[in-house]
Amino acid sequence: MGSRQVTAWHGKNITVAGLGVSGISAARALAGLGAVVTVVDGGDSEGHRARAAELEAAGISVRLGDAQTLPEGTDLVVTSPGWKPDSPLFAAAAAAGVDVVGDVEIAWLLRGPDAAPWLAITGTNGKTTTTQMLASILRAAGLRTAAVGNIGTPIIDVVLGEEQYDVLAVELSSYQLHWAPSVRPHSAAVLNLAPDHLDWHGSMEAYAADKGRIYEGNTVACVYNSADKATEDLVVEADVEEGCRAIGFTLGAPGPSMFGVVDGILVDRAFVENRQKNAQELAEVADVNPPAPHNIANALAAAALARAFGVEPRAVRDGLRDFRPDAHRVSHVDEVGGVTYVDDSKATNTHAAEASLAAFEPVVWIAGGLAKGATFDELVQKAAKRLRGVVLMGADRALIAEALARHAPEVPVVDLARTDTGAMLAAVREAAGLAEPGDTVLLAPACASMDMFANYSKRGDAFADAVRELAAEQA
Ligand code: ADP
Repeated sequence: MGSRQVTAWHGKNITVAGLGVSGISAARALAGLGAVVTVVDGGDSEGHRARAAELEAAGISVRLGDAQTLPEGTDLVVTSPGWKPDSPLFAAAAAAGVDVVGDVEIAWLLRGPDAAPWLAITGTNGKTTTTQMLASILRAAGLRTAAVGNIGTPIIDVVLGEEQYDVLAVELSSYQLHWAPSVRPHSAAVLNLAPDHLDWHGSMEAYAADKGRIYEGNTVACVYNSADKATEDLVVEADVEEGCRAIGFTLGAPGPSMFGVVDGILVDRAFVENRQKNAQELAEVADVNPPAPHNIANALAAAALARAFGVEPRAVRDGLRDFRPDAHRVSHVDEVGGVTYVDDSKATNTHAAEASLAAFEPVVWIAGGLAKGATFDELVQKAAKRLRGVVLMGADRALIAEALARHAPEVPVVDLARTDTGAMLAAVREAAGLAEPGDTVLLAPACASMDMFANYSKRGDAFADAVRELAAEQA
């Protein structure tokens, strides 16, 4: 544990809100440092009790079935990302003058004096992909690194673990940023900003402000998306260290202090000598997997953070070449009868679906699910001219159907009027009927999956299974 400031935790009464992965990690770590930990959770299922028993065996108190009252004597509340800021427990904490923080804040506070710096990434979409790309680039540069935060091993475990790192690629959700006031990354990127999770944050302004926290105290670079002014505004508002630079990325030709694309080459015009005149070639667009426009933007953001950390151009190329995206993110499934089938089940909001629809033409679009309060007019307007046809399913499909009727009345729409899991096979068959050779059938639902499937990955698996069945039928 080195010379880390651990004494501050000894004997402290800490209430951990939520018996999930991050809550359990925080509880164990803090108890290990001598804190008196109580985990509270509103649930009281068998699963909850089993997890509670394990923690209790480690000397941690667990209170199930009451997520509201603040345990007596609490000095600090450590929350899990899912808990809304207006939860009664936090109101009780505020009334008692007790601070509330998240696991990322705890991880930051537990870093030792020689801890690895953080290169941090947030945004409405593309966080996981960009963080993994960045880790791949850092690895290609021979650095000891891990992709952490909203992904992988809980960040407290990484910070307290035995393994030594040179630098961490940290994905931070807006929830995590909300509860992490002291985090000061070496450099950070906000990839994009579109309305999402507004029920949690209360308003777009509050959501943007939480995202913007990622730039606070940056020392080398604040990376923003020059096509998304809201991200640049957040840089302007941030309180950064002296000498920290604003670095934009663009899919077009970059100006000075920017990353961009020239003749199919990703270039750096920021971390080069004489940036007025010079640009450094980093990689080819074809090195990016998949080379869809939104993903090239992700690659540019990852490259900008790596270059801010001093990584050589060659490692950017090698890291991008080595990178494979997680499943269900614009994943090529198969080609059947000259039609390509692509699974972007992870497109659970309109901003994500807009990005993947923009990558294919002509496209038969399979959409629908839980809309989470979204509207579809803008998405349909932007995609209309690319659409060969649309197949709709899921609880909120009528919202998409209405937008299509308003903005793309000539596009054929098949409304399956189904919300059962088996509807996916019917959807793929209908899509195959609409598609012509050379077209792409794209599952990019623009909605959450829980009306029909356990999660987005089950939805994507069902799509892939249905495509396989179609291929067998047509063989
Ligand atoms: P996150 O971690 O932010 O959810 P992911 O990397 O898992 O992001 O990607 C989720 C989905 O968002 C992808 O399947 C794709 O549809 C879309 N997406 C990825 N990158 C971008 C981007 N830069 N802009 C818009 N949409 C994107």
